[in-house]
Amino acid sequence: MDNISAGFPGRNTGAVPDNLVDLQARVDALNARYRHHSATAVLEGALRDPEAGKIAMVSSFGAESVALLHLVAMVDRKTPVLFIDTQLLFAETLTYQQEIAERLNLQDLRIIRASQADLDQHDPYGALRLSDQDRCCDLRKTQPLERALDGFDGWITGRKRYQSATRANMEFFELEEATGRIKVNPLAHWGPEDVRNYMIENRLPKHPLVAQGYPSIGCAPCTSKVKPGEDPRAGRWRGQDKTECGIHFVNGKPVRQTSAAGETSAITVG
Ligand code: SF4
Repeated sequence: MDNISAGFPGRNTGAVPDNLVDLQARVDALNARYRHHSATAVLEGALRDPEAGKIAMVSSFGAESVALLHLVAMVDRKTPVLFIDTQLLFAETLTYQQEIAERLNLQDLRIIRASQADLDQHDPYGALRLSDQDRCCDLRKTQPLERALDGFDGWITGRKRYQSATRANMEFFELEEATGRIKVNPLAHWGPEDVRNYMIENRLPKHPLVAQGYPSIGCAPCTSKVKPGEDPRAGRWRGQDKTECGIHFVNGKPVRQTSAAGETSAITVG
């Protein structure tokens, strides 16, 4: 089998950058500096503190994304915002993305996609997802994101402590060893009601599919409606072992399944 992960030296091999010790020291210093700060202060720190380096935001423009996008826009509208267009998204997501980007006046929105050459080579008929979803996500999400993050020292995610046991102690700043980047989690201490309240208080529009029964929204072929009482992410890759797309790395490996500890290593990048 061809290896579409080729070109990511260090990602799947377990190799780590040489400067990890320095990087961990920077992460520790940032956490000490912003330990009792608000989400906004953490964002300001991430975007302005030289210790954090050059930071981008990665957003799916999904069900909860608009809260963090609004916060980022309030701090600095020129923050690079990376949106992964897998070219298999719902039409509603594309429309919502344009609406939100305009409304928040995002000044540096970057829409990233797999190259046509890669699609022609690895998924010429758009059917790779039917035989190998991990490779499809790798081709359409992980690789384009990795290329887009080249040159950045870190990225902002929307992950939160309440989402799983393994995130219960998640800090605002984390070292992503596999890539040598810093992950920034300004909403680490937010609960589900905080996101809801923030959206209401700031009159932020919901993704239109939320009202139609989609509390978590990814690619159209891999997202189904969720019934009352089901886990909000039950509609993602329904019936498959796969629960994550693989853009987050733990111990040098892309996270694609919920761990025994209940980790739902989030697609909630924004
Ligand atoms: S979510 Fe489905 S369609 Fe989208 S990239 Fe992953 S496997 Fe492919």
